[in-house]
Amino acid sequence: MKKSVMAAKNLEDLRDRLNELDRDRLNELDRDEIRVVDLSSLPVFSKREVKSTSEVWSWDKTRILVTGTDGWTLENRCVVCGEATFHCHHDQT
Ligand SMILES: [Zn+2]
Repeated sequence: MKKSVMAAKNLEDLRDRLNELDRDRLNELDRDEIRVVDLSSLPVFSKREVKSTSEVWSWDKTRILVTGTDGWTLENRCVVCGEATFHCHHDQT
């Protein structure tokens, strides 16, 4: 039985489950099944919402979940506005 992505306990757990799911799909050469997971309504782990959600799949208080060539990874939210740093122009230092 596969671990349910929707039952993830926190953002790291969600990231790991999504990466595991992707690996399984690649191994089976059948990526259609990932569509069973509704990626547009993944669980989130903070009431502090992200306003610009394009390319942002989930978040917790300080980080966002993104996907790319390295699979699913976490990035820090902007320390000023809380948005993804690729959606704002604040200095992160
Ligand atoms: Zn910002």
